[in-house]
Amino acid sequence: MVKICCLGAGYVGGPTMAVIALKCPDAEVVVVDISTARIDAWNSDTLPIYEPGLDDVVKQCRGRNLFFSNDLEKHVSEADIIFVSVNTPTKTRGLGAGKAADLTYWESAARMIADVAKSDKIVVEKSTVPVKTAEAIEKILAHNSNGINFQILSNPEFLAEGTAIKDLFSPDRVLIGGRETPEGRKAVQALKDVYAHWVPEEKILTTNLWSAELSKLAANAFLAQRISSVNAMSALCEATGANVAEVAYAVGKDSRIGPKFLNASVGFGGSCFQKDILNLVYICECNGLPEVASYWKQVIKINDYQKSRFVNRVVSSMFNTVAGKKIAMLGFAFKKDTGDTRETPAIDVCKGLLGDKAKISIYDPQVTEDQIQRDLAMSKFDWDHPVHLQPMSPTAIKQVSVTWDAYEAAKDAHGICILTEWDEFKTLDYTRIYESMQKPAFVFDGRNIVDAEKLREIGFIVYSIGKPLDA
Ligand code: NAD
Repeated sequence: MVKICCLGAGYVGGPTMAVIALKCPDAEVVVVDISTARIDAWNSDTLPIYEPGLDDVVKQCRGRNLFFSNDLEKHVSEADIIFVSVNTPTKTRGLGAGKAADLTYWESAARMIADVAKSDKIVVEKSTVPVKTAEAIEKILAHNSNGINFQILSNPEFLAEGTAIKDLFSPDRVLIGGRETPEGRKAVQALKDVYAHWVPEEKILTTNLWSAELSKLAANAFLAQRISSVNAMSALCEATGANVAEVAYAVGKDSRIGPKFLNASVGFGGSCFQKDILNLVYICECNGLPEVASYWKQVIKINDYQKSRFVNRVVSSMFNTVAGKKIAMLGFAFKKDTGDTRETPAIDVCKGLLGDKAKISIYDPQVTEDQIQRDLAMSKFDWDHPVHLQPMSPTAIKQVSVTWDAYEAAKDAHGICILTEWDEFKTLDYTRIYESMQKPAFVFDGRNIVDAEKLREIGFIVYSIGKPLDA
């Protein structure tokens, strides 16, 4: 029986290990974390993250060959394969602040592994890390005094939140990078054997360590770049009368380009795209490639521009002021089918509207009031000019209320901002909503999910991203 341990029971570690346990009944999988609250939640009926299909997988395996524990040292010392899936946020202080990845959690995980290991280990980079991180980890692990053979593999995770279980069940590819030595190849084979339980062989790619590490950053940069490209086009559409949906359809029909990830929106969010591009920018700068760095930086600048363009559109449409006006915000999570609000555009839109003294009423089916208040109260780190911006003042935050019903959020509102593409927002009774609102009633569709024509027939003034205002 292969013994697997995963450090980090978050959005990646939890679902990934649950699927490995399900697909490899002959393996024992233990997920450990420094947070007791997280482990308690994984062991309870209310899992710490919302992800369609996750409950079911965990229920099938937990207690059989899937375990969650705070006893890091015990499970690390017993494991053959150790996945490290800890957080790697952007540094907010010191050298590289605002861009470089903060590897504090990774380093402390590696030091702990070096301290407690008494048998050979395969250590797998599951977190997204800068290219060449494996070299640093090897140096840390070399301090183990028991003469142990450590093999480091890079096995970045490509799942997307909201579809994590589907992505893990049938991944586009599994990428494994390792050292090109006999021991390295043996370690790669051991990890391939785990995935071979359910992933077809042709989808398991093996590369050198640095290609695997860099591929993850590259994949996220390419995905975010497509969003910024279509969003940049959406601004030009609004200025010229073109319709971004028609342009994206026509462009995506080119088989060299393809139709996916071409939806114009209020901007991308989530814990990965911005941080991984900033990380890439930093790596380019450190390698003497400022032109390449500024190319990727522009992807984030367009994203920031798109969010402020949206706020400006709301304010200018509502007669240049939202002071004292109630605005309903439908959706707060960074995308549908997740409760994750990390870097969600909703935070920036909310802060922008509060800056103009709006009153905001938020409804999101998976995000709690505590989470929203916490997000708004956090100081924002400005990546472009590495400084901590002041958090929202408590008085401004008091202008935000959170409801558990879209109709309640919209009652007496002057406008609605749709910020997450939850399916339920497509089928709301907009006639009922219109009747309960102040007039004129506005809809600002930051995800282009509602039928703007139907809403106009009801009486709404509708703004969709990248579409002619009268269309
Ligand atoms: P997360 O913040 O949800 O989870 C990380 C967990 O690691 C936390 O629970 C934290 O308590 C724990 N941790 C920190 N230090 C630890 C230590 N020394 N030992 C044990 N546990 C420790 O983060 P996440 O979203 O799961 O992301 C993890 C990594 O995966 C990041 O590098 C991220 O970039 C990458 N990634 C994330 C996604 C995603 O969609 N969230 C997708 C692909 C890759």
